[in-house]
This record gives sequence, C-alpha cells and structure tokens, in this order.
Amino acid sequence: MEFSILTLCYLIASVTFIIGLKMLSNPATARKGNLIAAAGMTLAILGTIFLYEEEGKKLGNYGWIFGGILIGSIIGTLAAKKIKMTAMPEMVSMFNGMGGACAALISIVEFQHISSAFSLSNQIAGLSSTTTGHVLIIVLGLIIGSVSFAGSMIAWGKLNGTIKDFSFKGQHIFNITLLLIILALAVYLIGWMPANGMLFFSIILVLSLLYGVFFVMPIGGADMPVVISLLNSFTGVAAACGGFLYDNKVMLTGGILVGAAGTLLTILMCKAMNRSLMNVLLGSFGGNTVSSGGGAKQQGAYKEITLSDAAVVISYANKVLIVPGYGLAVAQAQHACHELEKLLESKGVEVKYAIHPVAGRMPGHMNVLLAEADVSYDKLLEMEQANEEFNTTDVVLVLGANDVVNPAAKTDPASPIYGMPILDVELAKHCIVNKRSMKPGYAGIENDLFFQPKTSMLFGDAKKVLQDLIGEIKNL
Ligand code: NDP
Repeated sequence: MEFSILTLCYLIASVTFIIGLKMLSNPATARKGNLIAAAGMTLAILGTIFLYEEEGKKLGNYGWIFGGILIGSIIGTLAAKKIKMTAMPEMVSMFNGMGGACAALISIVEFQHISSAFSLSNQIAGLSSTTTGHVLIIVLGLIIGSVSFAGSMIAWGKLNGTIKDFSFKGQHIFNITLLLIILALAVYLIGWMPANGMLFFSIILVLSLLYGVFFVMPIGGADMPVVISLLNSFTGVAAACGGFLYDNKVMLTGGILVGAAGTLLTILMCKAMNRSLMNVLLGSFGGNTVSSGGGAKQQGAYKEITLSDAAVVISYANKVLIVPGYGLAVAQAQHACHELEKLLESKGVEVKYAIHPVAGRMPGHMNVLLAEADVSYDKLLEMEQANEEFNTTDVVLVLGANDVVNPAAKTDPASPIYGMPILDVELAKHCIVNKRSMKPGYAGIENDLFFQPKTSMLFGDAKKVLQDLIGEIKNL
C-alpha cells in the first residue's frame, strides 16, 4: 500500500482504537479512553471524506455525506442524553443493530456493483478468483450483518418489554436447518454466481433476517446482555468484512477489535454466570417469566427493621459493605449512597462496595453508576474480593439487589440461576436488605436470604430510605 496522509490518518486512528479499548477496561480511565477512540474515529472519517481518491477522483457528494452525519449526530446525541441509565442496554442493542444494518447495506450496494459489472462483461461462465473473493466477503458481510441487525432489534424489544419470549417445540432444529439453508445458498452463489444471482442474494438476505429473529426470540430476557455482546462481536466481524472489501485498514482494525472484544466479553459474562455459551443460547433462563402472583412464595417470617434501628446498627459497625443492585439504579440513589458512605466514614466506619458483574441491567452498570456519583474506584470490590471480605464485615447493606445475592444459586439445583456465582452476603454478621416489597427480581424467583435470621428488611424506595437514614444517623 502506498504511503499517504490518509494512510497515516488510518494508522493513528487504529492506534487510538487500541489505546481507547485498553483504557475502557478501567473505570478510572474509561471516559478518556472513549474520547481518544472517538477522536481517532473522527480523524478516520474526515480523512476518508476529504482525502480518499479513486482513479484520481475524490468522493464528492458532500451534501449527502454531511447531511447524513448531521442527522445521525442529532439523533445519537438526543438519544444518549435522554436515555435513562437503566435503559442503557436497550440503547446499546439498538446502536449495535444499526452497525449490523450498515454492514448489510454495504454488502447490498457492493453486490449490485459487482453483479452489474459482471453481466456487462457477460462472463457468466467462470469467475476470476478476485471476484469470487469479493463475493465471499460481500455475502459473509450480508449474512452476519443481517443476523446482527435483526437479532439486536429483537433484543432491544425484549429489554424494553415490547417483545415477549417466544419459542416453539423443535425451534433449535428449525434454527439449525435455517442456518444450513443460508450457508448452502451462500456457497452456491459464491461458487457459481448464477445469472439470477440477485435473486439468491435477496433470498439469503431475507433468511438471514429471519434467522436473527428466531435466534434471539427464545433466549431468556436475563440472558440478553450475553446475546447483545455476542451480536456485537458479529457486527464487528461484519464491519471487518467491509474493511476487506474496500481494502480499508482502519475499518478492518476497528471491526476486528469489536469482534474480538465482543467475543471476550461474551466469554467473561458466561463465566460470571458459570454457564457455557451453548447453555445460554439454548437454555431459557429468567426472562420475562415472573413467578405467579409476582411475589415470593411464602417461606416463613421475615424480619423488618426500622430506620432508627438501621441507623444505629450501621453507624456503630466497624465495617460496612454496600451491595448495589438494579433497584439502586431505578431509584437513582447513587448520590445518596455516596453521601451515606462519606457520613459513615466521618464516624470511623470502614465502607466499601461489593460489585457483582451482572448487578443491574448491563455489564459494568454499577461501576458506571457509582462513578457518576464520584465514589472512589478503590472502594469498589469485585465479586471474588468481596466474597473474601464478608466474614470480616459487620453489616452488609443490600440496596435494590436481589438475584445477585440469592443463595439459591448455590444451593438449589432446580433454580434457574443455579451455578451463577453470587455475593456471599450471609457470611457477614448482619444483613440489611432495602427494597420496596417482597417481590422477586429479574429472574422472577424468591430469595431465601430475606428469610434468614441474620437478615432484616428495610422497605422503601432506595433513594428515600438512604436520605432518611442519613438524617437519622446525623441525629444520633
Ligand atoms: P434484581 O433485578 O434481581 O433485583 C432488583 C430489586 O430491586 C428488585 O427485587 C426490586 O424489588 C428492587 N427495586 C426496584 N426498584 C427499587 C427502588 N426504587 N428502590 C429499592 N429497591 C428497588 O437486580 P440485581 O441487580 O440483584 O440482579 C440483576 C439481574 O438482572 C440478574 O438476574 C441479571 O442476570 C439480570 N441482568 C443483568 C444484566 C447485566 O448485564 N448486568 C442485563 C440484563 C439482566 P422491589 O420491586 O420489591 O422493590
């Protein structure tokens, strides 16, 4: 490849992607990492628009290009500003779907180019190996991009509750058959490029979209983050296909990085739940199935604690571990939580946070939320570290968490969350659980922890309860 300013732009952009990704792995540097990678992407886009030349001609079409960028930027900015923290996974899914759609559209446009050039030269019998390579990349991009788009749209609908879990008997066989048909058609199209290639191409497109829908439909709602991460890696691979097609190094690097990062995250999430990817894709954990009546089965008596008693117990403890969950995010109680932490520390209490990898509704949800409230990163303990500290903890304060502290994951093989590693909060001397009622969490199952002798329930909205608790402690 001949060296040019554009090549340099692509090289710089590729380096920023790698640095940005590395920085995203730590909450302290994540924000900066995101900005660095975004700056690199801007450079790559502007470089392509103004410096790319084909046969001595620049891209042109600036009105269309900047019109599109403007509309996309406005929609993206408004969506990102408006979206609630709890709805972030939906947005990630939607944006990922758009990436898949983009990759599929590139394939559609490029296949039209290649098939019209092909029929013009009238070389129906026999394709050059370059053309075969091109068709292969185009069809791969089409299949992966369409699956990613349709699957992400279904995941988006499931997360915001508009689409319910749906499956039928023999669906896995149906899915595998559908995939085999798509692959067979693709092999025929790539290998033989029939005269009516466009028809085959369109059939592959429709079947791939269908496959995306049927692939995600039966997967339980609580497994959506794993699916979104997997689809994200598909989108990366589809974008990398575009990079191959245009011999565009930065698109290739970006696509491969997304593909690899998505795959690694998928594996890590499966590990965090102690399940295989196959089990996630074929099983139907959690989802929208809430136990009948929407409440926990009667297990016996649970104990309630008053605000003033809770204030005394917490402020006379030596060490308190706070376990934030989805309810904390719903209540937007992160700032009140940080205030409580500072107040307790001013009284000589050691306060830390125990973060479960799937607490909340997206990977890293709790870290982001607490970072927003300026909670110091060194106070956040990962699950393994926290589990080593619970037995030296006086009080665990569970704030709007449920599934991630459910002992059934360890003790009940019939439970849908059996095998998922949890925070061993029952090892602490005392456990105070704040939630609004006895209703179950996301997996729709009861929680034995709430009925244990060491546990006291502190009912109410997390933000209000924390504010009142702070008031009580100040009055002690
Ligand atoms: P859960 O969904 O298990 O429980 C949250 C609890 O918060 C509920 O029981 C609810 O009880 C309570 N709550 C809701 N609103 C409030 C409020 N305003 N104030 C106080 N409490 C409130 O959350 P966890 O964080 O424990 O577990 C996460 C679950 O979500 C897991 O099953 C995980 O697999 C799944 N998931 C995780 C994703 C991720 O990537 N992190 C993505 C998608 C799903 P009540 O109604 O009684 O108040």
